[in-house]
Amino acid sequence: MRKYLITGGAGFIGSNFIKYILDKYKDDFFVCLDLLTYASSLESLSEVINQPNFKFIHGDICDIELVDKLFKEEKFDYVVNFAAESHVDRSFIYPELFYKTNVEGTKVLLDASLKYNIKRFHQVSTDEVYGELSLEDASFTELSPLNPTTPYSKSKAMADEVVLDYFNKYNLDVTISRSTNNYGIYQHPEKLIPKVVKMALNKEKITIYGDGSNIRDWMYVLDHCEAIDVILHQGKTGEIYNVGASKELSNLTIINNVLKVLGIDNYEFTFIVGRVHDDKRYSLDCNKIKSELNWDIENRFNDTFSYTVLWFKENIEWIKNKSC
Ligand code: NAD
Repeated sequence: MRKYLITGGAGFIGSNFIKYILDKYKDDFFVCLDLLTYASSLESLSEVINQPNFKFIHGDICDIELVDKLFKEEKFDYVVNFAAESHVDRSFIYPELFYKTNVEGTKVLLDASLKYNIKRFHQVSTDEVYGELSLEDASFTELSPLNPTTPYSKSKAMADEVVLDYFNKYNLDVTISRSTNNYGIYQHPEKLIPKVVKMALNKEKITIYGDGSNIRDWMYVLDHCEAIDVILHQGKTGEIYNVGASKELSNLTIINNVLKVLGIDNYEFTFIVGRVHDDKRYSLDCNKIKSELNWDIENRFNDTFSYTVLWFKENIEWIKNKSC
């Protein structure tokens, strides 16, 4: 039996990952450590919370004593670190919190991983660490220099550097995945898709940053979970893998797609001044994971996108409660 620590598992991607991996590795044991911040939802774990091979611990990855005790008691084989402050807008208001959780918290987990000799530490990172691209630029590869532009992406880039330090200096077995924008169920309504569903169903004006032309690559959350599983178990130590969907769409296209799935037309938009800085485009070259680990994305955008939007429509009360 292998033992996994999954941090931030009550958040959007972490909860989807926990359900995915519990279903796949039925003989293994999983512990979730989560601080249950405003971004989390314990409901997202309701299917698994009582399973005998799952344990939920409410706590902070920055709490050195708690983390040390947990590693000592549980003797983990693998650590997958999803725990983070993840909302770019909030990072301009609370940069210190982003630094504390995303950088210092990661270091606490790395220290414990080294002390208790775990098999592998996987860091869940983001395409945002590379900075922005223009429409004409080639996609970023894993060798592209880091050029983060927001307190969020800066903290994630710093965390990646710390993770690589533990590999280079102490030989800790680490891997890093850098993925593009995820969509899927239980994403917090501060993020674009659930936010638009809520505004559209409430008949509120939809506000769009800038002119809505900013481009993101949109990946279904379970594709991301599958890629993390492949990297965690088959990736080469010390390596970074880009994980993308080759589905580059503007925010305006995403909003129109949401409205189409909801069967709403002639909707009113308000264009507002955006963040201090809003990266124009993100795009990843994912040839490395394809060629080295034989992983590629399944082409199922339309189905997974509609499923996600309709799930938010059916769970509008969940969205409203999370928005308070
Ligand atoms: P999320 O905000 O939905 O979830 C984060 C979770 O971490 C929450 O459950 C929260 O309670 C927990 N958490 C926060 N601080 C903590 C702490 N100090 N100790 C323990 N738990 C803590 O985030 P998400 O969208 O699921 O993202 C998960 C990871 O994936 C993050 O590291 C993020 O940078 C990365 N990522 C996200 C996306 C995306 O599109 N959402 C894309 C690429 C990478």
